[in-house]
Amino acid sequence: MTRGCNFSAGPAALPEEVLRQAQSELLEWGSARASVMEISHRSRAFMDLAEESEQDLRDLMSIPDNYRVLFLQGGATQHFAQIPMNLARPDQSADYIVTGAWGEKAVREGSPYVQARIAASSIDSHYTRIPARSAWDLDPDACYLHYTPNETIHGVEFQDVPEVGNVPLIADMSSDILSRPIDVSRFGLIYAGAQKNIGASGLVILIIRDDLLERCPDSMARIFSYAEHAAGRSLFNTPNTYGWYLASLVFKWLKAQGGVVAMGERNKSKAELLYSTIDQSDFYSNPVEASARSWMNVPFFLGRPELDAAFLAEADAAGLIGLKGHRVLGGMRASIYNAISLDQVRTLVDFMRDFASRHG
Ligand code: PMP
Repeated sequence: MTRGCNFSAGPAALPEEVLRQAQSELLEWGSARASVMEISHRSRAFMDLAEESEQDLRDLMSIPDNYRVLFLQGGATQHFAQIPMNLARPDQSADYIVTGAWGEKAVREGSPYVQARIAASSIDSHYTRIPARSAWDLDPDACYLHYTPNETIHGVEFQDVPEVGNVPLIADMSSDILSRPIDVSRFGLIYAGAQKNIGASGLVILIIRDDLLERCPDSMARIFSYAEHAAGRSLFNTPNTYGWYLASLVFKWLKAQGGVVAMGERNKSKAELLYSTIDQSDFYSNPVEASARSWMNVPFFLGRPELDAAFLAEADAAGLIGLKGHRVLGGMRASIYNAISLDQVRTLVDFMRDFASRHG
């Protein structure tokens, strides 16, 4: 068996060069005479990796100096709760824009720690669009406004950062971080689980504006406090050292590819090719409004769902894996994160056309 073309939504494909490098230095990393997994997180060598990787991410995303970059754990889901623990009190109110399943979960997990108010939702469209900005019911006194720029399950993505006045904007960028250029200064806080565009699961990158750290209550357990993690440079306790190392390799790979500008161009071409293939056929469909379609996650459906199993089996035999849709929606989903090349998407659309011509 050979490695497949992996369209998994997450954990997801990593650049092959990164995996090969990790393989080659698995037993001995640099001059450590041990694996990077086997040395202290407080050793000079690991602290150098930590510093350099942070700098690489700062370069890639042009992160301004008044933001801290934290390398944390717990998955994005833990931070659904930890964000209000740090930035609000249970009697205060925060606004949420809900455009899919992850936004819903952010509300649910955050609710014990803040009055989570849904300021706009597209549930009425089964999450196939983004509510018009003019229809958002924003509270100018909200502690923050939370949204999900890319909804991984529903395949809905904001094409621009919304204008929200002075309320700190918080974005769950788990599935679109580093996929195109964004202006970090528009945000109060950005966070992302690593297992799509950054590396392996078990690592969360969190970028927070300095002034928001002042809100972290002194009374909270220190392990949950972003201020504490910032003060300890993400070494308050033992971090996910191997995950951090993998992220550091992915950041170097991204720089060598031309950074987020090059990624954005490539991701746009990949998405256009896949959506145009779907739209030009009577056999496949995608329900998302054109202006809200994700560049990262493309759910699609066969007109005859009884062929789903055959589609997946034939795709698998052709080396195309990870295409089964999320259980909430059924059908198919192709996740085409940074590590997926335009050629791999060409292979997928060739297979889709061929399958349609044989079964259509
Ligand atoms: N937010 C988004 C947008 C996601 O795609 C995911 C995972 N697929 C999560 C949050 C949850 O991440 P985790 O499982 O790492 O907690």
